[in-house]
Amino acid sequence: MTHSDDIHDIPEAVSHVCDRLRSAGHRALVVGGSVRDRLMGRRPNDWDVATGARPEEVMALFERAVPTGIKYGTVTVLAGIPVEVTTFRRDGDYLDGRRPENVEYSNSIEEDLARRDFTANALAWDPEAGRLIDPFGGEADIRAGIVRAVGRAQERFREDALRMLRAARFAAELDFTVESQTLAAMSQNAGLIRKVAPERIREELNRLLVAPGVRRGLESLAATGLLSQIIPEVVGAFDICAATPPELPVRLAGLLMPVGGTAPENAANGAGQVLERLKYDRKTTRTVLTLVREGEWEAPDQKEVRRLIARVGREMVPSLAGLRQARNQVSGKPDHDVEALLLGLRDSSNQALTETELVIDGQDLLDQGIPPGPRVGRILKALLEAVLDDPALNTRDRLLELAKRIETN
Ligand code: ATP
Ligand code: MG
Repeated sequence: MTHSDDIHDIPEAVSHVCDRLRSAGHRALVVGGSVRDRLMGRRPNDWDVATGARPEEVMALFERAVPTGIKYGTVTVLAGIPVEVTTFRRDGDYLDGRRPENVEYSNSIEEDLARRDFTANALAWDPEAGRLIDPFGGEADIRAGIVRAVGRAQERFREDALRMLRAARFAAELDFTVESQTLAAMSQNAGLIRKVAPERIREELNRLLVAPGVRRGLESLAATGLLSQIIPEVVGAFDICAATPPELPVRLAGLLMPVGGTAPENAANGAGQVLERLKYDRKTTRTVLTLVREGEWEAPDQKEVRRLIARVGREMVPSLAGLRQARNQVSGKPDHDVEALLLGLRDSSNQALTETELVIDGQDLLDQGIPPGPRVGRILKALLEAVLDDPALNTRDRLLELAKRIETN
């Protein structure tokens, strides 16, 4: 794939797909985000082709083709890279601001572009003619950095309320400004976002959160009242979130940290409810809650840092450090605690933080004549506590000696 910002440079695979469709008598154009990204000199996430051919015809033309979104007329052609080929559409009736109930195919690229969300996304590139099809002034809006609804923003958001979140997401990803009438329509229709499935909301929110312009995105959500519809628990401050590294769980923790008052346990409860409502997966939820809960630690000494690392697990330390660094930066505090955390991580690589990392195990205790039973577990636990305080104790002799002392106490 090329990195030049010349729109003529599209991958071989994409031009091949267009050629093939054309030689079978169909129109075929590159559309949507890929055209926008090429005009901006960005590397597209995916390549979309729009065609007059019906999905069955597309399936028949390519050996390796998968009907990935047949309901919406999409066939993915595997041509070295996946190319999403979608039949020209005009959308059918929208059901209450959700997805259209049925799609109607069309023979016109202009109609297909008219149903798209924003002018910057409503562009098509004809690779054969070397011509841009731009009925809504998308190229000018891209040059000016503007997110503008295609047609009347009000109507477009009433058709599909998710577009309001997409506007904020594109502003954050592309560093664009939302045009004023589009923004006004977001404010007026913010309440409609509640009709959108939480999974769709979550996916757009995720994109917004890891974008370089996360602050701008969150601010437009807040200014339009969308944020209080989605996450009423979050009030105002985006400084910590915007200062965190662009990893989803850390950004989510930065956003949700102040939720539910200052006590870490309350914060974790509040954050837990938000994550559940938006149907985040268990792994993400667990990670975010750990970060929120442990994000407020005070570490007077290295022993406490070791205990903290033992609690969260070594693999969580970089995320926790990123969150702390952001918090410290915002509050203007020096980041001794981040240093302590990273030092603790470095030291802990050859230190035991879990019972399994002790140099002796339950069998060793049994071999010493300690009778089997719950006491074995209790002794191991006590040994780990001792080692967390003083890592030098983690030798066979010293642990066995210590075990004997605990046993006779
Ligand atoms: P990216 O791939 O970077 O997320 P994109 O613009 O390609 O950006 P997609 O979600 O892949 O976004 O959608 C592809 C195209 O489909 C968009 O460019 C837009 O033209 C159209 N589109 C997607 N979602 C909607 C929607 N909810 N309403 C109208 N058009 C949409
Ligand atoms: Mg795309």
